[in-house]
Amino acid sequence: MKRKLEGQVALVTGASSGIGAGVAKAMAAEGATVVINYSSSPEKAEKVLNEIQRAGGTALTIKADVSNEKEVLAMYEETFKQFGTVDILVNNAGLQKDNKFHEMSLDEWNRVIAINLTGQFLCAREAIKEFLRRGVVPSKSKAAGKIICMSSVHEVIPWAGHANYAASKGGVMMLMKSMAQEYAPMKIRVNSIGPGAIRTPINHAAWQTPESYNQLLKLIPQKRIGEAEDIGGAAVWLASDDADYVNGITLFVDGGMLLYPGFEDNG
Ligand code: NAD
Repeated sequence: MKRKLEGQVALVTGASSGIGAGVAKAMAAEGATVVINYSSSPEKAEKVLNEIQRAGGTALTIKADVSNEKEVLAMYEETFKQFGTVDILVNNAGLQKDNKFHEMSLDEWNRVIAINLTGQFLCAREAIKEFLRRGVVPSKSKAAGKIICMSSVHEVIPWAGHANYAASKGGVMMLMKSMAQEYAPMKIRVNSIGPGAIRTPINHAAWQTPESYNQLLKLIPQKRIGEAEDIGGAAVWLASDDADYVNGITLFVDGGMLLYPGFEDNG
């Protein structure tokens, strides 16, 4: 049976750790050739590359800061040189710079918006240019291209002490929907994944100790933290033709975190 992403090129930003690494591996296992973007740790990117290659997949690492226009353009140029085109973009790179709102510096605000929101704009713009240039290749996919934006449950749940992060993810929601509306007629699909709490370096304080983990579970009706593989499976599905009629949605992968768990025992 043909694998779900056979013959397609997937660029995954921030793929040297956590969710990005999980998505890169899941897409490679379904036949995609993967570009592992990283910004600071070549060793970690190489580790993901080795895992993909050992499993029989094809991949490449490319260093680029997604908030830097020049570096994003160079990353695409290198991708086209190596693999000819790009079929799937996973806009995953992101970070937190937490602080009480009244103590938040402009740097903390700007850095989070620059990477989490402007970075998604810069990477998506170049992907869409390529999808429009190339159009649909029916042997590969029904779509001319697919973009998956890594959002968060915090595109809808306000988050005290994290106003910059929540604002960036709220922005990603409307960026995603506006792109989806603009390019659906050209057979380009744009969707988001909204992870709940996933076990990665970004939130290690929340699952590190039994006390913090038990506290976290109060927010998760399924009573377990998510793993990168949970997001990998969702990303493969969204990028595949199985989801060809899915456009402009956020697929929440959160163990039920959005179900108002405070009301579990009658509120
Ligand atoms: P992570 O810290 O492991 O991954 C983030 C990745 O982005 C890292 O590899 C980091 O090097 C990279 N990155 C940071 N700045 C970059 C830049 N300027 N250019 C390129 N890459 C850069 O954490 P994660 O949990 O895997 O986060 C991945 C995405 O998932 C983020 O967008 C995050 O907001 C989102 N998310 C995570 C959770 C969770 O619970 N872990 C929940 C909701 C959303």
